[in-house]
Amino acid sequence: MHLPDRVVSSVLAGLVAFFACDLPAVEGNDVRAADRPNIIIIYADDLGYGDLGCYGHPTIRTPNLDRMAAEGMRFTEFYSAAEVCTPSRAALLTGRYPIRNGMCHDQFRVLRNNSLGGLPKNEITIAEMLKEKGYSTGMVGKWHLGHLPEHLPPHHGFDSYFGMPYSNDMLPAKDAPQGREKFFVENNDYWKTPLIRGTEVIEEHPDQRTLTKRYTEEAVQFIRAKKDQPFFLYMAHTFPHVPLFASEDFHGKSPAGLYGDVVAELDWSVGQVLETLRAEKLETRTMVMFSSDNGPWLIFDSHGGSAGMLRDGKGSTWEGGMRVPGIFWWPGKIPAGSVQHEMGCTMDLLPTIAGLVDASTREQQLDGTNIAPLLLGTGTVDRAPYMYYRGTELYACRLGPWKAHFITKAAYGNPKAEPQEPPLLYHLGIDPGERWNEAARQPDVIDSIRKAVEHHRSTVQPVESQLEKVIQAKTP
Ligand code: MG
Repeated sequence: MHLPDRVVSSVLAGLVAFFACDLPAVEGNDVRAADRPNIIIIYADDLGYGDLGCYGHPTIRTPNLDRMAAEGMRFTEFYSAAEVCTPSRAALLTGRYPIRNGMCHDQFRVLRNNSLGGLPKNEITIAEMLKEKGYSTGMVGKWHLGHLPEHLPPHHGFDSYFGMPYSNDMLPAKDAPQGREKFFVENNDYWKTPLIRGTEVIEEHPDQRTLTKRYTEEAVQFIRAKKDQPFFLYMAHTFPHVPLFASEDFHGKSPAGLYGDVVAELDWSVGQVLETLRAEKLETRTMVMFSSDNGPWLIFDSHGGSAGMLRDGKGSTWEGGMRVPGIFWWPGKIPAGSVQHEMGCTMDLLPTIAGLVDASTREQQLDGTNIAPLLLGTGTVDRAPYMYYRGTELYACRLGPWKAHFITKAAYGNPKAEPQEPPLLYHLGIDPGERWNEAARQPDVIDSIRKAVEHHRSTVQPVESQLEKVIQAKTP
């Protein structure tokens, strides 16, 4: 029998780890196969730090997410690994900065509907890791890690896939008006991002008003079908990315306008998932986490969200671009009603899940941290300084409460990158809104951050960008 190299090395790594007695054990958590938890990741698109009731929004109503936080743990300092969609999603599934696998680009920023590239095959996703542990794996929603069939979720460890291959604004209809005004008119005829099942397009022009409901039905069916075995569900919503659409049940209901309607429907969807887990008596065997891929898209005014008191939004390396809601729920394991002030980030998911299910991660150079001790209330964790990339450029670094910006640039439009020397320095405890530059008073802090950045850079090997190559138009 011939085993793939990855399997052989994984087995060897497992044996080495076993005899070295350094398995990633989680104190107080049983990792026997029968007890391996189901994992559900629910990911919103462009939802801001300030867009949920439990994060202080005064008019967007999110009772289900508020209840999820009240029954679980809400992070106040949780980060996506990038300021836009594609790199953020690559980092979530691999636990690695996108600079390591080419899922970032300074000009293009995300994969487009004519991109050739996708998540490289040699990357190990959470789904692949869990499949080796006997999990059923499903994905519902927006992928955005390569839309050609060979890049779609079934080639990255997912048994099933139903959703959109990229953003809901990436394929405007030919007769749609030019410019941004079309984003403010609720007309589904203007948008043609397709729907895919497996690797096949099943609808060229789905009704985006029905998407959140259809994703939810799909997720609920997946949970019910897989309830007797460990499962992993990655549910990445299309919204509240613009153009905004809500179903009839939610349209016109929120005091926060259409954006509020859309978030209320996402909140309903989260409630349906949690309710299904309760009905199937899976709640104490399932960890659910909720987050967003980047901050709010502020250039869309009332159709973009809010980063609360944080500065700027999607597309920038100011806090509002990358600090996002982070809620974890696992009744009986994660202390109910807890607020976590330690940092967390989406790259932590892979190593944390690896710890929970006793999977080896020795083949990968990971950038996330196993935060199970924080989640389970069993201890603290050591975290490497956090790097804020915009495309391939390292713009900022966080060390403890301090954040230094080496380059700043406004989120969108065509602004100039502004090198900062000395770097701008903010204390995120005292000044979460990044208003008071402390650089002149804290030269030692800046020295420490420079050393951290230097060390990080020494670990990064340049790779080819997956975002650069495009499908050439056919000549007539
Ligand atoms: Mg996004």
